[in-house]
Amino acid sequence: MYFNFDNSYPTLKPEMYSIIKNTKFGNPEYVVYNDSLAKVLGLDESLKSDEGAKYITGFSEDIKYAQAYGGHQFGHFSILGDGRAFMLGEHINNNIRTDIHIKGSGRTPYSRTGDGKGTLYSMLREYIISEALFYLNIPTTRTLAVLKTNELINRSKPEPGGLLVRTAKSHIRVGTFQFAATESEEHVKQLFDYTVNRHFKHLEGKTNKPIHFLREVMESQIKLIVKWQSFGFIHGVMNTDNMLISGESIDYGPCAFMDAYDPETVFSSIDRNGRYKYSNQPYMASFNIVKLAETLLPLIDKDIEKAASKLNEVISRFEKIYKKEYLRVFSNKLGIRDENDFDKTLVDEFHQIMFTNKLDFTNTYKKLTLRELDVEFEEWIQKWKKITDKYNATDVTELMENNNPVIIPRNHIVEEAITKASMKNDYEPLDQIMEMIKSPFDYEKIIDSSFTEPELMHNYKTYCGT
Ligand code: AMP
Ligand code: MG
Repeated sequence: MYFNFDNSYPTLKPEMYSIIKNTKFGNPEYVVYNDSLAKVLGLDESLKSDEGAKYITGFSEDIKYAQAYGGHQFGHFSILGDGRAFMLGEHINNNIRTDIHIKGSGRTPYSRTGDGKGTLYSMLREYIISEALFYLNIPTTRTLAVLKTNELINRSKPEPGGLLVRTAKSHIRVGTFQFAATESEEHVKQLFDYTVNRHFKHLEGKTNKPIHFLREVMESQIKLIVKWQSFGFIHGVMNTDNMLISGESIDYGPCAFMDAYDPETVFSSIDRNGRYKYSNQPYMASFNIVKLAETLLPLIDKDIEKAASKLNEVISRFEKIYKKEYLRVFSNKLGIRDENDFDKTLVDEFHQIMFTNKLDFTNTYKKLTLRELDVEFEEWIQKWKKITDKYNATDVTELMENNNPVIIPRNHIVEEAITKASMKNDYEPLDQIMEMIKSPFDYEKIIDSSFTEPELMHNYKTYCGT
C-alpha cells in the first residue's frame, strides 16, 4: 500500500473523534507534489499517480477519522473539530509517526454551517508558507501535496476547490485538551497519557508528570514564538485550536511576514483589535498555555487550590523564559554569540531606527550582515562594534548569515503566485518562489530583486477559512 499506517488516535474514547466513511470530491488531481518530503517519509513513487491521488483523498475502505477539539477563538470558547479535514492515517517510517491529514475534505460531523471545503488558492498559500517556515528552521507542519478538485466552490464568488495533504508530528492541540475537559476527567487523563506516550516518553515514570509536561509545552511554544518574531512572521490566528502540543506551527490562514518593522503589524482581516499582532504573540501564547493548564488541574491534585498553585508556579516563569530566549535569538541575529555580552537595548534601538525610518525588517538585518547599513545607523553601529569587535569577524558574519534570511515569501509575490496558479493554471511563478525559499540563508545565491523588495502594500489583508 501507499502508506505504512498504524492508527493510535482511535484508541482514545469515541467522543474524541468521528469515523469518516464517504469522501466525495470532483476529480482530485495533483498540482503540487513535494518529492523531498515524500522521500523523508519513505513513500513509494506510485503515490504520485492518479490512483495515488484518489487514494490520498479518501477513496478507500480504510478507516479515516476527523478529530474533535474545542478552542478559544479571539478569547471565546467553542466546540470545534475537523470541520473540513480528516486524518487519513498515522504513517510510520524509521520509527517516526507522522499524521497524514487531508484538509478541504468535504463536510464532517464538525462542519457546523460550513461546506467543509477549501479553495485551491488558500491551500496553495498554506503550501508556500509552511514550506517557507520549514526552510527557515521553524518547527512546522508540512505540505506533502496540493490537489485541485476540479469543482467550483461557493465563496463570495465561485472559486476552484483545493485539497492539502498535511503532515504533522500529531494534531493534538491545546483545544484537544479543552475538548476532553468538556467531556470528563477520564477523557483528559487518557488524552494526557496518550500525549505523553507519543511526544514526552522521557517523562514516563516521573512524579508530577503534568507539571513537567506543562513546562515543556510552554518552553517549546516560547521557542516557536521567538523564532516567528525573529523572522517577522505573524501567525494571525493563535487560537487554542491552532496551537499544537508538539510545538509545531499549524494553520496558515491569515499569516504573513511583515515588511517594514512595526510591532503593531496585523494582517488578518478579522483581527480588528490587533489581538494577534506581531508584538502580542507572546501574550497570546501565554494565554493559550493558561488554558492548557486549566485542563490539567484535576490531574495534579484533588485539592484545586493546591493544583492551581503548582501550575501557576510553572506559568509564572513564562515571561522570564521568553525574555531570555528573545535575547538569545536576537543576539544571534546581531552576530553576538553570548547574550550576556549585552542588553536588550541594543536590539530595541536597532528596531527603533527601523521603525522611525520605515525600513524593511528582513532587508535591514540582511544589510547588517553584509555591513551595508545606511547612514541612519551610524551611531548604533559604534555601539554594536564595541561588542562584536571582541569576536572573530568571520564568526560574527557566519552567525548573522545563519540567522538573517536573504529571502522570505513576500506578500505580493505569494499573492501573484497563488492567484496565477489557482485562477489561470500558471504554476511558473509558484515554482519560482518555491525554489527561492528553499535556501533562505544562502548569501551566495543570486536573487532577482523583485523577490526581495517589499512592495508597499498598504493595508495588506489576509483571510482565514477561505
Ligand atoms: P481554521 O480557521 O482553519 O483554524 O478553522 C477553524 C474552525 O473552523 C475549524 O473547526 C475548522 O474545521 C472550521 N472550518 C473552517 N473552514 C470550514 C469550512 N469551509 N467548512 C467547515 N468547517 C470549517
Ligand atoms: Mg485551525
